[in-house]
Amino acid sequence: MDVREISSATEIAAAGGVLTVDLGAVAANWRAVRAAAPGAEAGAVVKADAYGLGMAPVARRLAEEGCGCFFVADAHEGAALRALLPGVAIYVLNGLFPGAEALYREAGLAPCLASMAEVAEWRDAAKRGGTRLPAALHFDSGLNRLGMSATDAAALAEDAALSEGIDVRLVMSHLACADDAANPRNAEQLGRFREMRAMLANRFPGARASLANSPGVFLGPDYHFDLMRPGVGLYGGNPLTGAANPFRPAVTVEARVLAVRTLEAGDAVGYSATWAAAAPARIAVLSAGYADGYFRALSRRSDEKTQEKGGHVHIAGYTVPVAGRVSMDMMAVDVSAVPEGFIQRGDMAELIGPHISVDDVGLRAGTIGYEILTSLGRRYMRRYLTGGENLSGKPGGQV
Ligand SMILES: *Cc1c(COP(=O)(O)O)cnc(C)c1O
Repeated sequence: MDVREISSATEIAAAGGVLTVDLGAVAANWRAVRAAAPGAEAGAVVKADAYGLGMAPVARRLAEEGCGCFFVADAHEGAALRALLPGVAIYVLNGLFPGAEALYREAGLAPCLASMAEVAEWRDAAKRGGTRLPAALHFDSGLNRLGMSATDAAALAEDAALSEGIDVRLVMSHLACADDAANPRNAEQLGRFREMRAMLANRFPGARASLANSPGVFLGPDYHFDLMRPGVGLYGGNPLTGAANPFRPAVTVEARVLAVRTLEAGDAVGYSATWAAAAPARIAVLSAGYADGYFRALSRRSDEKTQEKGGHVHIAGYTVPVAGRVSMDMMAVDVSAVPEGFIQRGDMAELIGPHISVDDVGLRAGTIGYEILTSLGRRYMRRYLTGGENLSGKPGGQV
């Protein structure tokens, strides 16, 4: 891994920012998925470097918890995971790429075949290799992203030769609106998935079924089938819109205070002078910026009317707003509300963590927690907690 992992107190002292991943929380979130659906198996989606948290430590920990089935986006992610975990099932969500069959085979990956062309290529690869090759069959039930149609399901059910040599382990589909339990599209997709699954039951009697992503887990037992595919919830993101997060936060991002400055009324802060002090003020300059995945969209103008837009951070027990433009490696926050002397150069400010949820940062940046997690910068010093440690740290942020 080329991200920096912490090994000493001096290294922490020298770090501009610290990213802490609580593997105990990731494990607890995975167990929460299992508890929500006792009759189904819980897999884990670890694509995009486990949503930015680090695939290796996350996948190892989940395997220790008993997770035996992982989902990645492409075959290179799958091969990296295979090197870590020789014994688990690994499904490639983005399917089979033309000409790439050998890599899937060598790494023991099961592509989620999403077209008849992919089925034919995988069948031919099995024939050439004189072996059976594992796969999922991915059907579209309304998302219109990847997946075969009901017509394809009928053809596969009809003609065994189409899938000869393919060990179909899973029949799957993906929900478009599961974050909104009241959306009628959920039941429509469920109905279509059930129909396609029923069509294929005789052809692939050993295949299990999978529909639920993290929010799908909370749509009730009809949506659980045999295997669930939670992603964001494992990492502490809220998969539900307009409802409390059923998962525990797993990521804390802290940035160091580089300077505390006193401003006169009218003094402007940052590029293009978009924020100016209305009265005498104090700001803290922090060692993180958009190069660290703290989006420039979290900048805050002084004429911004709403409190909901622009970033805020937690420092010395106070939640304070960003002041001016977020720049590449630095940002300023308005700490006028924090009593003088409470914040010292070298202290840490929480950008994401127990007080500032990843979903809140996403909302303020005009996006979602998923994008904040997968954009977490590679410059932070990383530390991985194994469980039980107090994530909130001490006031002032000594770590
Ligand atoms: C990413 C993905 C998931 C996981 O979704 P979350 O909302 O993060 O739980 C599950 N299934 C498929 C097909 C995906 O692409």
